Amino acid sequence: MFKHLVVAVGVLVASAAHADPIDVAAGMSLVPGSNSADRQPDGNSILINAPQGLILVDTGRHRAHQDAILIAARLRGKPIAAIINTHWHLDHSGGNEEIRAAFPIAPLYASNAVDGALGGFLRTSRADAEAYLRSGKASPEMAEDIALDMAAIDNPGALRPSIPVTGRTSTGIAGRKLELNLAPFAATEGDVWLYDRRSRVLIAGDLVVAAAPYLDTACPEGWRKALDSIAARNFRILVPGHGAPMNKPQFLKWKRAFTNLLDCAASDAANAACIAGWRRDASAFIPAGKNTDSLIAYYLETRLRAAPDERERYCKPQ
Ligand SMILES: [Zn+2]
Repeated sequence: MFKHLVVAVGVLVASAAHADPIDVAAGMSLVPGSNSADRQPDGNSILINAPQGLILVDTGRHRAHQDAILIAARLRGKPIAAIINTHWHLDHSGGNEEIRAAFPIAPLYASNAVDGALGGFLRTSRADAEAYLRSGKASPEMAEDIALDMAAIDNPGALRPSIPVTGRTSTGIAGRKLELNLAPFAATEGDVWLYDRRSRVLIAGDLVVAAAPYLDTACPEGWRKALDSIAARNFRILVPGHGAPMNKPQFLKWKRAFTNLLDCAASDAANAACIAGWRRDASAFIPAGKNTDSLIAYYLETRLRAAPDERERYCKPQ
C-alpha cells in the first residue's frame, strides 16, 4: 500500500488550506500547515527574523504551501538565509527544492537520518506508490500528491543537510543564536527541535502533533524521552508540527495523553480502551467532528502492539 509513502496519513485536522501567517512572537511567524480530507498534509512552517535574513523551519509538501512561505518572506523584505528541517517526512521537507531554487545559498540544517530513510522507508514507499499509481485506484488529488512525493525522493540532494545536526548545540544561524537539539530514535531516527531563549519559543516538529501522533517511523520509547527533554525547557509557547501553538500546560496535557497511550499499549487493556483513552486524554487537541479512533487503532496494530521486531524497528539505525 502506498500508505507508507504517506507518512502522516492523517485526515484528521480540517484546518483551512494555506491560511495566513500567524505571529507567534516578535519576529517569528507561523505559516500553518494544511490538512484536508482528500490531500496529504503540509506540516507547519516557521519564519524567524535574523540579522542576516530569515530562518525557515520546514518547507511543507505542496507548492501552495511554499508559495505562502515565499509571500510571507517577501512581505518581510528579507531573503531566506537558512533552512532547518525538523525531520525528513515529506510534509516537512518536500518543499526544500522549491525554496532553495529561490534562495540557493541558504544552508540546510537537518539530521543525517534522511540517509537511512532514503535507503529504506522512502525507497520502499516509492515503489509501493508507483504500483498504486499504476493500479489506477488513486484519485486525481492523491495521484498529484504521490507524484510530488516521488519527485522529492528522486532528488535526494535537496533532502540531505549541508550542515548536519548531530546533537545539542547553541549556534549562530544567519546571525541569530538558536539552540538546536537532536532527539534520536523518536518520531524518526533523528528529530531536530529548536529552542529560542530570547522569545522562549520552542519549535517541536512532529514530536508534538495536535489530534494524534504519527507513529509510522517512530521509536515510541525514544519519543517519550524526547518529550521529557522538551518538558525540561522553560518555554512560553510551543509550535507543534501540525496544529495550533500551545502554552506549557497545554503541552503537558498532550504529553500526558501520549504517555498514557504508550502505557495502555504496554498493558493488558483491550485496544478499545487505549483508543478511548486517547480520545479522552487528547480531546482538547482533536477538532470537533473529527475522529482519531481508526488512526490510533492502526498504530496499535502496526507499531505499539506489533511483534517485538516491528515494534522496535525504528529504535536502531536504519
Ligand atoms: Zn508532519
